[in-house]
Amino acid sequence: MREAHADQSAPDERSAPGPSEDAQVIVVGAGPAGSSAAFHLARAGVDVLLLEKSSFPREKVCGDGLTPRAVHQLIRMGIDIKAPGWTRSRGMRWVAGERQVEIDWPALGGYPDFGLTRSRHDFDDILARHAVAAGARLRTGVKVTEPVTDRAGRITGVMAVSGAGGEQVVHRAPVVIAADGASARLALSMGLERDTKRQIATAARRYYRSPERSREEFLELWADLRHPRSDRFLPGYGWIFPMGDGRVNVGLGAIPHRRHGKADLRATMDRWLARTPEAWGLREENAEGPVRSAALPLGFNRHPLYTRGLLLVGDSGGMISPWNGEGIGQALEAGEVAAETAALALALPTGPRRERALHHYPVEMNRRWGSYYRLGNTAADLVFSRSGFQPVLNRYVMGSPFLLNTLARLLTNLTDRPSRDVIDHVLNTAVRLVPAPNARRR
Ligand SMILES: Cc1cc2nc3c(=O)[nH]c(=O)nc-3n(C[C@H](O)[C@H](O)[C@H](O)COP(=O)(O)OP(=O)(O)OC[C@H]3O[C@@H](n4cnc5c(N)ncnc54)[C@H](O)[C@@H]3O)c2cc1C
Repeated sequence: MREAHADQSAPDERSAPGPSEDAQVIVVGAGPAGSSAAFHLARAGVDVLLLEKSSFPREKVCGDGLTPRAVHQLIRMGIDIKAPGWTRSRGMRWVAGERQVEIDWPALGGYPDFGLTRSRHDFDDILARHAVAAGARLRTGVKVTEPVTDRAGRITGVMAVSGAGGEQVVHRAPVVIAADGASARLALSMGLERDTKRQIATAARRYYRSPERSREEFLELWADLRHPRSDRFLPGYGWIFPMGDGRVNVGLGAIPHRRHGKADLRATMDRWLARTPEAWGLREENAEGPVRSAALPLGFNRHPLYTRGLLLVGDSGGMISPWNGEGIGQALEAGEVAAETAALALALPTGPRRERALHHYPVEMNRRWGSYYRLGNTAADLVFSRSGFQPVLNRYVMGSPFLLNTLARLLTNLTDRPSRDVIDHVLNTAVRLVPAPNARRR
């Protein structure tokens, strides 16, 4: 372990090219998962090298919405969420047909009662800098191309290219964390294929200048979007998230249905936005940039989450919630668990004792989300991929504050444990009744 953290006034951040560097842990990818892992490792005194192929600040296609669960992780990291640029939300507004309901974020003991939005352009930059300030060495413009393995197939480092000349460099570490996002290239090159039984959703977003909607207090979710051609309900939902800077992040996500295939998100978005009031400004002339889309790997769709020196964190491990498509809070939380696991393992001698400690990571992730995701994967297969959220937001649910709050807390995984109210009790019991899948096989 390092003696002390690097001089906080001179954080160690550099763009490539650079020489080969060794570390105790290499983290590949400086999105929320990678920066969280690097931050927590550095805080634990571990020498960590964080490799990122792009340079900050950079865009990432996202809805930019953070639920209280994600905010909780930011607070755990000591991110200054009172600083300018963070926009608070007090809850969700669900729109379905003629009806709309507003649901405040719950007042729980274990989570804050507010959410946030912040563009990923700033958010990821802030997190990566935070990891550097804690002592992580960040190298941007470094693209990891393949794992370096020993004869037993265990990862011992990574091969990377950097700089305009595409110089090849090998970085070595006894533990590597894959946080390279939905493409999961590193996991794939270690033989960890995607579980084809699990869903992959697609989502698209665009920014609009909309002073009218930019300071809204609620994250707005539309459950009744229809495909323009078939008139079927979109198997997902649309969102309008206030950015607080005169803009809104507007998007929609859908789970492909086995029979109907992929949804035409662009056409569905055009039809939807034409329905919104003119005063909101969600029209072509107010758009900033093109519609961009990306994949959402849901419900632990890659496993095991640990193999031969490699831990998968965030989208690379398919950790997006099948209940609502949220993945930032999950990436931050898993980054912390992976960091704790690696720090503990590194305190043990190489060999079976260290290996046993590393194998704890999938077990702990499974303990946290195994049953909840199993239930969510079933809901995604049977309900959301057929007709989105329309069936669960029927008039009985929309008319009952108790059912609405229960649904909201189920979708966002917000309960106190041990249970403090009836909703906690109902949800925690329901999840407990579902057996968690096997962490090693799943
Ligand atoms: C349209 C859309 C909307 C979404 N909206 C929300 C939302 O509102 N709220 C929410 O919580 N989640 C949302 N998500 C999901 C969320 O974006 C992801 O779950 C989250 O970004 C996962 O973080 P990550 O760190 O695992 O991966 P990423 O954020 O993808 O970060 C991966 C990092 O790895 C780097 N990288 C990749 N390959 C390499 C390589 N070979 N070498 C070095 N670096 C590499 C990338 O450049 C990137 O910086 C949305 C997703 C989409 C597509």
